[in-house]
Amino acid sequence: MSDTRHTKVLIIGSGPAGYTAGVYASRAMLSPILVQGIEPGGQLTTTTEVENWPGDTEVQGPDLMIRMEAHARAMGTEIIGDIITSLDMDSHPFVAQSDSGTVYTADAVILATGARAKWLGLPSEEKFKGFGVSACATCDGFFYRGQEIVVIGGGNTAVEEALFLTNFASKVTLIHRRDTLRAEKILQDRLMKNPKIETLWFHELAEVIGADSPLGVEGVRARDVRTGAITQIPAKGVFVAIGHAPANELVKDKLETHMGGYVVTKPDSTATSIPGIFAAGDLTDHKYRQAVTSAGMGCMAALEAERWLSEQNLDSGKDETLPLGYGAPVDATA
Ligand code: FAD
Ligand code: NAP
Repeated sequence: MSDTRHTKVLIIGSGPAGYTAGVYASRAMLSPILVQGIEPGGQLTTTTEVENWPGDTEVQGPDLMIRMEAHARAMGTEIIGDIITSLDMDSHPFVAQSDSGTVYTADAVILATGARAKWLGLPSEEKFKGFGVSACATCDGFFYRGQEIVVIGGGNTAVEEALFLTNFASKVTLIHRRDTLRAEKILQDRLMKNPKIETLWFHELAEVIGADSPLGVEGVRARDVRTGAITQIPAKGVFVAIGHAPANELVKDKLETHMGGYVVTKPDSTATSIPGIFAAGDLTDHKYRQAVTSAGMGCMAALEAERWLSEQNLDSGKDETLPLGYGAPVDATA
């Protein structure tokens, strides 16, 4: 028999947006439940140094996320290791089914499901995924000690991954379809100064090549986007770092999306087109996609959810025993 849990605020996602929403919703004494999903801690658990989180000149991504989780828990957020598989937003309270079989019903929902790595969609990429093709250098870089590696992409992720992989690889080739990088200037500078990294401009990945038995990568064929000429590069690892797409599966058919699937929120707000459903972080943000902006939106979502619950008279029975709670509704517009 499935277990049913009711909460005033259900937070879906455990990245900077979700945990920050947890901190604020807890301090508003709303006793939120936060469901972590398949990647507890979110995208920052897949990186090493984070150098732009205010207050920390440098912090390891996974450590930062452990601290955020502990912070949300200490404030009173109930954090559950589960995955939401569907969300019914047609009736109220909202109903979320989960992988564990638990059914969560909620007066308000904060969507903070973030973004996931994009893939090129090549058959050979698919064939070697997990056997030499990866989208996470921090997860898999260690397997390529002393080997040659290629990285595809020209944004912050690609450049950070290329730099990180030089800790293991004998050589890293960054393949980019233009001759200009999107990555921050400080990262570009480090990339250019690194003797282990070579850049191949104006090229795209045409095919991953390798052996069938045992399955493993042996190199790539890169295509010159100007001439179509093919260059073969030996490599044991291929890291695809071509950006991220919003993790909108739960809501894409019911909420308005734009710019490739990002959930639309009202101007200066995290409110979506369905009252009581709020969205924060990379799920909604096609522009900045940073930890600090996600955390800021998580804060906004919790304050707005509290205000909405109060307007609906759904905020009675708050847990007044929680530490450091404000006790009074917060005016999100103040
Ligand atoms: P995410 O961090 O994407 O977290 C989403 C969460 O939702 C995850 O916990 C996931 O498990 C959960 N989830 C998804 N679907 C479900 C579901 N169905 N049920 C339950 N839970 C679900 N930004 C910086 O500011 N500085 C950096 O140095 C930096 N480095 C980065 C390095 C890399 C390699 C990458 C990939 C990104 C980096 N970013 C950095 C960007 C930053 O990580 C993101 O902007 C930020 O993590 C977005 O936070 P979020 O809370 O919106 O979502
Ligand atoms: P991104 O900024 O969107 O960059 C994606 C890169 O992949 C671009 O260079 C793009 O090329 C290339 N690309 C996209 N599709 C491609 C395709 N089909 N074939 C070949 N190349 C393709 O993505 P990201 O680097 O993952 O970063 C995502 C967000 O996270 C950004 O907001 C970023 O700032 C943030 N982030 C921040 C940090 C940090 O602060 N240190 C670290 C990592 C990520 P074009 O340039 O030609 O479009």
